[in-house]
Amino acid sequence: MEDKVIISLEGVSKEFGGTTVVDNFNLTINKGEFVTFLGPSGCGKSTTLRMIAGLETPSSGSIKLNGEDIVKIPPYKRPINTVFQRYALFPYLDVYDNVAFGLKLKKVPVQITKKNGQVVTKMKHLSREVIDQKVLKALRVVDLEELENRDISTLSGGQQQRVAIARAIVNEPEILLLDEPLGALDLKMRKDMQIELKEMHKKLGITFIYVTHDQEEALTMSDKIVVMKAGEIQQIGNPTDIYNEPQNAFVASFIGESNIYNATMVGKLKVKFLNHTFDCVDDFPLNEKVEVVVRPEDVKMKVADGSEVNELSGKIVSKLFKGMHYQYVIMVGRNELIAQNTREFNVDDVVSLTFRAQDIQIMKKDLVSNIYGDAWINKNNEVMISEDPYEANLTQLLPGSSVDEEGYLVSKEGKKYDLNDADVIVEVPITEVQIADGHDNGQSNGVVISTVYKGDHYQIIVRTEEEEDFICDSPYTFNEGDLVSVSIPREAIKLTLKGDISKYEIA
Ligand code: ADP
Ligand code: MG
Repeated sequence: MEDKVIISLEGVSKEFGGTTVVDNFNLTINKGEFVTFLGPSGCGKSTTLRMIAGLETPSSGSIKLNGEDIVKIPPYKRPINTVFQRYALFPYLDVYDNVAFGLKLKKVPVQITKKNGQVVTKMKHLSREVIDQKVLKALRVVDLEELENRDISTLSGGQQQRVAIARAIVNEPEILLLDEPLGALDLKMRKDMQIELKEMHKKLGITFIYVTHDQEEALTMSDKIVVMKAGEIQQIGNPTDIYNEPQNAFVASFIGESNIYNATMVGKLKVKFLNHTFDCVDDFPLNEKVEVVVRPEDVKMKVADGSEVNELSGKIVSKLFKGMHYQYVIMVGRNELIAQNTREFNVDDVVSLTFRAQDIQIMKKDLVSNIYGDAWINKNNEVMISEDPYEANLTQLLPGSSVDEEGYLVSKEGKKYDLNDADVIVEVPITEVQIADGHDNGQSNGVVISTVYKGDHYQIIVRTEEEEDFICDSPYTFNEGDLVSVSIPREAIKLTLKGDISKYEIA
């Protein structure tokens, strides 16, 4: 089937009071596609959706529907409908009337021939039969035709959300927008609804644009995923590409479990990390500093028997049965490696490790910020980078929140979260990392492994004992091998929670 573009966003940006929340968004969506906007809370997903719906106007750029600019067209004239997380249903109406509500108000032009033969056009309400037909069709799609006379208040959360979907599709929109529609449901209901939504998408044959911050949901449901961070698109691709070939460390750490290491290109299709040289399939210039990702399921392991020559080895420090496989944490020197295997090994086993060349994904190193994909928050609300505690502002994880005297994060609505042990992605602009001579003058100790003069400053890479790298811009020069310490101002630490904040909620 030929792909036909239904909607395109060209250079779309949105500012609120001088802050850019959607930055130069370029995307085309084909007719009938299931596209998902995926990213942490606050990255601009809803704002982008609202611009497509017509509920917000872009600050710049254009949005085209079937080739026509629709920026000036009001929401109710767009063939687009939205389902929100909080289903705004009418509690005093039954299922049928909730779905029929919009149709009963709707007027359509009808040609009427008067007695004198003159033909006039009049706006008339839809007939009962037409409304009936449309409502039943919509209820059939969401599998609620049996419940048409039930009061809304007697329905489960999942059923109510299906009513909301029926109401959104009853007008036969060309595009259905879904903004975290399953966010208010419990896990079991959410899984069931994911499958049902996929089926509805197939039955209806229309375009779905879906918003979620749940990577698993995005991977299972979508034809195309748009990964976003801070208003910018990080990567667009189908689920397999996004998972297997993340384009940067943020995408790799946001999606799935991953092992991410600093690496250097040491030859044509040869990359060095974990103190070892590996063959790879991605061509990067010689000596380029890069990052590599190896997915846990791609780590091949066997118990070392002493016959290995020049092979990577590590020691298993933990083992967890995950139902279909075991998950191991292996220490390779000072680096942690996560591996999955259906075979059982034991803690303290020394294993020999291999990766196939095609399973080593090489990513361009971000030279604007340092990204730490395996940071976490400790019990003192500090963020742990390279095993060292850094002060950070946790309220950035939830707009409008505060930290109470017991150290819990409290939302605007008064919900409490215990973030102890929460996994986060940390980003620090390289201009914000400060280096001082000697150890213990900062938060992390390390050694300078590279300095490059950049015209008006030095770019310095400090490697800690835990083999974590800090790239820093500095006006001062350091020599390779210098012992230094690194510190980062509290406000320069940008945090992204891995997974949903709701799992940290306490009663
Ligand atoms: P997401 O849906 O990805 O969680 P949003 O699109 O809702 O993110 O918000 C992106 C950013 O824009 C947030 O920082 C949010 O606070 C801000 N924002 C959203 N709507 C408004 C508004 N009407 N006025 C000011 N800021 C807004
Ligand atoms: Mg949102």
